[in-house]
Amino acid sequence: MNVTCRNCGARVDGKFCSACGQSSDTRPLDWKFLWNDLQRLFSPQDNSFYSSMKALFLRPGDFILEYLNGKRIGHLGPLKLVLALSAINLGLLRTHRLMGAERTADAAQQWIYSHYAVAELALVPLLALASFLGFRRAGYPLAWHFGIAGFLVSQHLAIRIGLLSVGLLFHYTNLRLILVAPQIVAAGLATWAFVRIFSSLTLAQRLWGTLVTYLLFGAATLLTVYVFALCVSK
Ligand SMILES: [Zn+2]
Repeated sequence: MNVTCRNCGARVDGKFCSACGQSSDTRPLDWKFLWNDLQRLFSPQDNSFYSSMKALFLRPGDFILEYLNGKRIGHLGPLKLVLALSAINLGLLRTHRLMGAERTADAAQQWIYSHYAVAELALVPLLALASFLGFRRAGYPLAWHFGIAGFLVSQHLAIRIGLLSVGLLFHYTNLRLILVAPQIVAAGLATWAFVRIFSSLTLAQRLWGTLVTYLLFGAATLLTVYVFALCVSK
């Protein structure tokens, strides 16, 4: 078989274009393609979103380390994953608010409704810097820490999305419990991930690094919230 790639125009000999990677079996858009494309989005076998989420919960540390080292086919990148989950999270928070939870909400809950989903994205650089300092000894570049932080914040968001969905289903309006519970689970999963990711260090060094990372992350988050609150109140 010798055809021209419909994506880049190179000559294709085989199932995939060696220049751009597109399948040589690509036809002009038709109903079949649209249907298959839609199916792929929700199919657990052939979807990078699902496979990344699954790996993130079943073997967080090994998955993240493999991804950083270059094993990436079939997985969604950390920043894309965070953005996708933030969008779902924002949608759920809005729905939660519309369902009347707002009437019973106090000032803190109001603040959460209006800022939390956006603030979650700011956690990625803060966590990246914290683990960069906490695990300096491991010598990983800062970009790797951004990748790790993107995956760990995604994990946290996914747990919250699960709880928010259950909350919506049962008209449960105590948002604080929905927000605090994932923090505890996520911290446990993140500790497990850190211990696996920085495997070149001794266990004591890894546990110490995790502690330093959490302390720096906590301090940086509080400082950011404080500065943000100051700016808003003016
Ligand atoms: Zn091509």
